[in-house]
Amino acid sequence: MSVQPLCHEPHPLLRRHARPIERFSKEIRWLAADLLETMYAHEGVGLAAPQIGCDVRLFVANPSRRRGRELVVANPVMGVTAGRTAIVEGCLSVPNVWERVRRSARVRMVGQDARGDPLVVEAEGLLAIVLQHEQDHLEGRLFLDRLPWCRRWRLQTPRAAAGQR
Ligand code: ZN
Repeated sequence: MSVQPLCHEPHPLLRRHARPIERFSKEIRWLAADLLETMYAHEGVGLAAPQIGCDVRLFVANPSRRRGRELVVANPVMGVTAGRTAIVEGCLSVPNVWERVRRSARVRMVGQDARGDPLVVEAEGLLAIVLQHEQDHLEGRLFLDRLPWCRRWRLQTPRAAAGQR
């Protein structure tokens, strides 16, 4: 288990549809352990495999930050979603950017754990947000992509933003 270097935007892996995990070998469990160590080292609440350079559909989450409450999800599929919410999000792959993102308030996700056993997660609150954020990573999507175009434009052109104020 070790802390791995993070990929930052515009790293190409952050823009790829990650590959499904077909064989749950011990390497997958090592990768899950590395994801958790790296997430804790950076005080994150979730981290997806592409963010540490691995092109597979695996992420970890732990909004409580309490050890022993980690969630490891492989091959996730988003099921039923309900309600709307919006909170200010950040991302370890997009340093120093914090923006309010609109998402579903409640989600039901199915997938597999690090050993390949079936997993169902029903979540609301911060965990629901983290599940959607990490699922996005596996689709090659960043939270910035969910912002209205005017806010994206402002982030890309700091000089224009300065002129607006
Ligand atoms: Zn992220």
